[in-house]
Amino acid sequence: MAKAKVAINGYGTIGKRVADAVACQDDMEVIGIAKTRPNFEAVVAVKRGFDIYTLPESIEKFEKAGIKVAGTIEDMVKKADIVVDCTPGKKGVANAEMYKKYGVKAIWQGGEGKDVAPVSFNSVANYDAAYGADYVRVVSCNTTGLCRVIYPLDKLFGVKKVRVTLIRRGGDPGDIKSGPIDGLILDPVTLPSHHGPDVNTIIPHINITSAAIKAPTTFMHVHVINMELEKECTADDVRLVLGSQSRINLIDDGITGTNQIIEYGRDLCRPRNDMPENCVFKQSISVSDGELYMFQAIHQESDVIPENVDCIRAMLKLEPSNVVSINKTNKAMGIGFCEQKPLWMSIPDFPETFLKT
Ligand code: NAD
Repeated sequence: MAKAKVAINGYGTIGKRVADAVACQDDMEVIGIAKTRPNFEAVVAVKRGFDIYTLPESIEKFEKAGIKVAGTIEDMVKKADIVVDCTPGKKGVANAEMYKKYGVKAIWQGGEGKDVAPVSFNSVANYDAAYGADYVRVVSCNTTGLCRVIYPLDKLFGVKKVRVTLIRRGGDPGDIKSGPIDGLILDPVTLPSHHGPDVNTIIPHINITSAAIKAPTTFMHVHVINMELEKECTADDVRLVLGSQSRINLIDDGITGTNQIIEYGRDLCRPRNDMPENCVFKQSISVSDGELYMFQAIHQESDVIPENVDCIRAMLKLEPSNVVSINKTNKAMGIGFCEQKPLWMSIPDFPETFLKT
């Protein structure tokens, strides 16, 4: 069967990772990437063998830099079955008309408002909602990380309420403009932050609020999570459920900080030391009076990447089952510390009462 033709519009932190992730799947291929500046990332894209497209007014800049351009961004869009828009937050929405004009399906990222597409996406929680859809938004790194823990816990124990504080990285490692370089910035100072409500675009019935603080670090975000659960359970039950999820890594072995997780990624020889799984600190999981407390770290540069691949598969109807797609994506990308199984299969010895809704 012919591979699905995927175009990547915007080749920065997220775009370059989506391109590499698509390129290693056997049912889809990268037909081009679009960039506006002929910088080092463009040079690497050439080395990777990707065709480069740009804005008409930027072609000369690329040619002067010795980088061959295959055409304009519109030329690329015309050739694609689907475009993954990875342009900077709030800019991607301006491309909607172009995608519509050429009848091409499109995925936007979490930096766009929820109204950019009728569906917001997470692989575990609502794959079916994107099945065959034309326009979808893959939610932000933080919302993805929250959905991955809330969804299975809600299925098995019922989630009454979630309260989460996010300590956000100030910028990405390659970023030369963001901050702070000192101070902890309330972002926003008003409450709640948008992260909790954004979870409701995927799992609408969850009662969730959030607060966010920006910190001078580039490694990862940290979430301090408190959940009230409907059914009685122990910390070990929670570890069992979260440990059964292929995109959740229960972190232990002396790791107590985000810098050590990144070092762990380096030692595992992960590409770009990425950690696309949620890193839940195993020892932090505790349950008291029906309330769960835990810390998790989210690698902002990489956790949404496998979700983009699954989203492509759902939108192009390449695979009807999210479990199959998740495993396929994980295997090709070398991520996940266990196989994703349907929730009820992941925990065969689980008390039967927990499985009843
Ligand atoms: P980025 O700034 O690293 O990369 C954006 C790329 O798009 C750059 O290469 C830029 O040159 C290019 N670009 C700018 N304008 C363009 C245009 N008009 N047409 C084509 N290309 C254009 O941004 P990013 O961090 O990769 O973020 C992309 C999206 O992913 C945003 O919506 C963001 O909110 C979301 N996101 C980012 C992160 C993260 O931590 N970086 C995590 C999850 C989601």
